[in-house]
Amino acid sequence: MATPSRTNRIERLDEANVSSYFGINTFGWRTMQERLPRETLRALKKTLKKGERLSPEVANAVAQSMKAWALEHGATHFTHWFQPMTGLTAEKHDAFIAWDEQGISVIESFSGDQLIQGEPDASSFPSGGLRATFEARGYTAWDPNSPAFLMEGPLGKTLCIPTAFIGYHGEALDHKVPLLRSMEYVATHARAALRFFEVDTGNVIAHCGPEQEYFLIDKRYYMLRPDLMFAGRTVQGARPPKGQELEDHYFGSIKPRVLRFMQDLEVELYKLGIPAKTRHNEVAPNQFEIAPIHEPANVASDHNQLLMEMMKQVADRHGLAVLFNEKPFAGVNGSGKHNNWSLCTDEGHNLLDPGHTPAENLQFLYFLCATLRALHRHGALLRASIASASNDHRLGANEAPPAIMSVFLGEQLNRILDQIERGEAADASEKKILDLGISKLPVLNKDATDRNRTSPFAFTGNKFEFRAVGASQPIAVPLMVLNVSVGEALQQMNAQVESLRKSGKDVRAAVMQVIRTTIAETRAIRFDGNNYSKEWRAEAERRGLPHARNTVEALRAWELPQTRELFSRSGVLTREELDARIHVRHEQYVKTLNIEAQVLREMGETMILPAVWQDVRNKAETLEKIGDRPALRKALDAEVEMLGRAYTRLEELKTALSQAEATEGLQQQTEAFGGKVLDAMTAFRDTLDALEEMCDARLWPLPKYREMLAPL
Ligand code: ADP
Ligand code: MG
Repeated sequence: MATPSRTNRIERLDEANVSSYFGINTFGWRTMQERLPRETLRALKKTLKKGERLSPEVANAVAQSMKAWALEHGATHFTHWFQPMTGLTAEKHDAFIAWDEQGISVIESFSGDQLIQGEPDASSFPSGGLRATFEARGYTAWDPNSPAFLMEGPLGKTLCIPTAFIGYHGEALDHKVPLLRSMEYVATHARAALRFFEVDTGNVIAHCGPEQEYFLIDKRYYMLRPDLMFAGRTVQGARPPKGQELEDHYFGSIKPRVLRFMQDLEVELYKLGIPAKTRHNEVAPNQFEIAPIHEPANVASDHNQLLMEMMKQVADRHGLAVLFNEKPFAGVNGSGKHNNWSLCTDEGHNLLDPGHTPAENLQFLYFLCATLRALHRHGALLRASIASASNDHRLGANEAPPAIMSVFLGEQLNRILDQIERGEAADASEKKILDLGISKLPVLNKDATDRNRTSPFAFTGNKFEFRAVGASQPIAVPLMVLNVSVGEALQQMNAQVESLRKSGKDVRAAVMQVIRTTIAETRAIRFDGNNYSKEWRAEAERRGLPHARNTVEALRAWELPQTRELFSRSGVLTREELDARIHVRHEQYVKTLNIEAQVLREMGETMILPAVWQDVRNKAETLEKIGDRPALRKALDAEVEMLGRAYTRLEELKTALSQAEATEGLQQQTEAFGGKVLDAMTAFRDTLDALEEMCDARLWPLPKYREMLAPL
């Protein structure tokens, strides 16, 4: 296959080498290098490095170049693309047109102002009360760290400019700004720590590679299920005769229809510069995974949002619907998003890579301990960062990490930490470290058998894998929490090292002592056993580890004193910004459950129960005609009995809903929905699922699990 030159006119991208068209729809550094005047490029890089505001001249020059590039590629509109606290992305399109000087015809126009700042009519985005207290305005500001890109529409393209979403007084109204702040915070203290190891690096960048799980089902079924369309998950459905019991789907061969979707998707992703790397079947029927190569956390976060968007679009072209909900089907596995996280230097050196020399290993242990310390102190907050109504159905089931946060390190690392704790390497001499076998770290930890799939937070050789994140969630939030809590741990450990040095210790000994204390203090957070077991729950309680069983309990961690202190000291969230996020999370929880309950109510009352009435009537009439038969009578009685129970529970659901809606106070309302409403939903659903197994399938008004989960 010949390699076409880098152009947008490659006829068959699916047959071209990826490198020949990777990123053609992005205005990233490569394109900027090719197109921007050298002066502008230098000025842009300088302002970025210093984190300053762009000058109007530079902004205008970039805007002109971006406009020319976008128009050449067929763009007609531009939009500021941002991430409000709903967890979705938002865009408002403007055409590239303005009146000419005489005001009689239009010209293509785009200015520096339009590039760097937009003002969406933002009063409809959740602000958690932030904007209400200031002004109902929000601004979007260009984030030059994330490349602008072209979204291809059916007719013409739109230039999307990734932006931060901020309020009138600079308050963060989105997930991007806090993520960027947290990256800066952890970088500052990581750089300071590196000086103990005589490493002077330009910058330290948090990296993330998010593995995305999802379901695909035929679009026609999707359109017939109001619950999937409005709530993203089935709120009713009897279990299929064959679920995932045979475990024959995982890593199985990919069916042609699915592969066509995946390949089509990859072409779209590559054009957008998203480095999709891995694709495979997952455990549940019709469940799959896609994983990209890791990137700086902010770019990975933007790319994951864009990835989910592209997946929906491409699925649609294939007559498929993609489901990101954490638990679209009861009885089979739900979907998560494994956030692989590490800290890397500018030069590409991974600080969580054990390294080859004793000195490198000591540095590795220092960063490893900082992560343990972060989890030990802020485990509950990390749990809270991924709490949502739908993730509740997944966490703690025997398929996903439990709601108790602990860290898996593997047998070898645990042994080394134990030895250090016992003082067997207290003076950190090179020989001692070698004796411990620390210099052999890389070899063993790459061994895949050493992995523990039940751990929510596992060390996997040169990165940590946070597995409790839900498939539909924006990764920016847990990444932000991880960065800021590791940043805090580093800051505190650095201060301890400094103080030991002041009292006369040499730097290595001081580092070793801090590592040792940290190991001892964070012992409780390390667990290598089976996280799904009952014994672990009891053991975790003995260790005093927080265990938030659901979102209602988990959200409290956002209000802990150490959480408030963490955010205000680091400057990652002001008090108001934190309160706003707490508010929005409660609001989202209540809204989600309200929608689910309403959809269930409507589907039950207006679709399912009428079908059962019909079925009962048919059966009763037949029985009348043929005379009483005990077995048939018994079956009919059971169905009528269940129908009656369904109506009782329907009434209970309605009562619970109206009581919850009338409840005053955010926390109280969350509790009402997470308590009585959720219980009533489950009880009502159980009767409907039972009826599904009694009712004439030809009368059943909804696609069944066995249809939706049949191989594509
Ligand atoms: P697996 O965990 O399934 O064995 P890999 O180890 O190759 O597979 O990585 C899975 C994911 O972890 C990928 O998305 C990859 O980009 C990401 N990843 C690998 N190394 C790092 C790293 N240093 N930092 C962050 N993410 C990483
Ligand atoms: Mg993995």
